[in-house]
Amino acid sequence: MIYNPEQYSIKDESMKPFIDAEEIWNYINSVKSTKERVRAVIKKALNKNRLSLEETAVLVNTTSPELIEEIKQGAKTLKEKVYGNRIVLFAPLYVGNLCANNCEYCGYKASNKAVKRITLNNTDLVKEVEALQDAGHKRLILVYGEHKKYDADFISNSVKEVYKVKKGNGEIRRVNINAAPLDIKGFETVKNSGIGTYQVFQETYHPETYKKVHLSGKKRDYDWRLTALDRAQEAGIDDVGIGALFGLYDWRFEVLSILRHVNHFEAVYKVGPHTISFPRLQNASNLNIDNTYKVSDEDFTKLVAIFRLAVPYTGLILTARESQKIRDEIMEFGVSQIDGGTNIEMKGYSKNETEQDIDKEQFVINDDRSLNEIMNELIENKYIPSFCTACYRLGRTGEHFMEFSVPGFIKRFCTPNAILTLAEYLEYYAPAKTKEAGYKLIEKELEKLGNDKRVEKLKEKLIALKEKGKRDLYF
Ligand code: SF4
Ligand code: SF4
Repeated sequence: MIYNPEQYSIKDESMKPFIDAEEIWNYINSVKSTKERVRAVIKKALNKNRLSLEETAVLVNTTSPELIEEIKQGAKTLKEKVYGNRIVLFAPLYVGNLCANNCEYCGYKASNKAVKRITLNNTDLVKEVEALQDAGHKRLILVYGEHKKYDADFISNSVKEVYKVKKGNGEIRRVNINAAPLDIKGFETVKNSGIGTYQVFQETYHPETYKKVHLSGKKRDYDWRLTALDRAQEAGIDDVGIGALFGLYDWRFEVLSILRHVNHFEAVYKVGPHTISFPRLQNASNLNIDNTYKVSDEDFTKLVAIFRLAVPYTGLILTARESQKIRDEIMEFGVSQIDGGTNIEMKGYSKNETEQDIDKEQFVINDDRSLNEIMNELIENKYIPSFCTACYRLGRTGEHFMEFSVPGFIKRFCTPNAILTLAEYLEYYAPAKTKEAGYKLIEKELEKLGNDKRVEKLKEKLIALKEKGKRDLYF
């Protein structure tokens, strides 16, 4: 743990704001990035140590192409060490796009009259989930606009509905949430519906910019949003996701602020966030935003590598907002979860159109490949696509989520579970070509795992899956 309470001007307390913009800027403006210092920081990260704000500022301030390359290489090595070669797949599902806020950067803002407002009823929801199950998905993130209609009971009911849908061999085994901040009671209600992670992104941690881009609605309250996941923790949701929308303000500030948020959680709740997301501003219907802080591909790939080094134990999520090219590059050195076969149009999964309708979307996506196309490519590039949900279902979450601190956890749990969920996909959803390539990859991975009792058990489970029609097998 690198958190030092004496370090910051604002002390960390439960449900109290913790960002001091001047302090964050001081780190950026005062820290020097010499060659020796950059290399020392990379070395520290490669020993799986969390980086401090000051050390992360060293990386953020690096401008030499040679050293940036070393940061990326370091991130790649660390990723292989910590995560192995599995990539977890999920799909976002928009439940409703009513919204009472006016965020300048979003197509769903209340003032945008061009957008078609839709809330899925139970029949719509079931249709969407069935389409996702038909493709092979097991993990969803349900996304809601911020509107009084989408209160804790509404969210909780939709989660329960999703879990109930079982089409053919399909089922959704983990439902995560991206929705408005709730009060503690609201978070308790949603927790009881059996969710996995609750995501709330701060969008920008810079208070002035925050006010500038959030014109009206409850979301204009910076502190209410900043402390949202404290309330989630207080309500017993220890599995939370944070993030910022890159492009609203200086990316260096956002990176350090996200890290400050991680420190806050560790100081108060003794557990970091489960995931960090870093969506980049994209085009949207009626978008009204200037390009001052647009993040170039070069800076974007660098910042993801910095996150990997700074928080080795936190999952990094990259979505289909980014193009295939950027996704392929970043997967090598940073990301542990991606979405696949994404369609963010309201009711988009259950209809058979491929064209995007910008007036039904929150923003434009740049990677519209099907889940199977993504599976093929992952397999070809020797990643194990995983739909694993084991830890959440066995209670291995939050403080007890020891993925990286228990020696050999990845080898004992994550890799075998990735193999089992891949085999299930190959058996029930994959075309012949994917199936053949997938089983070849599994053979190679089994060879790598060697020959102990656990591998024997894994092989037995694979046989049960292939020959006895068993599903949902995990360690
Ligand atoms: Fe509403 Fe969320 Fe869009 Fe803001 S970002 S306008 S809260 S849907
Ligand atoms: Fe994630 Fe746990 Fe599965 Fe590993 S075993 S992939 S940590 S759910």
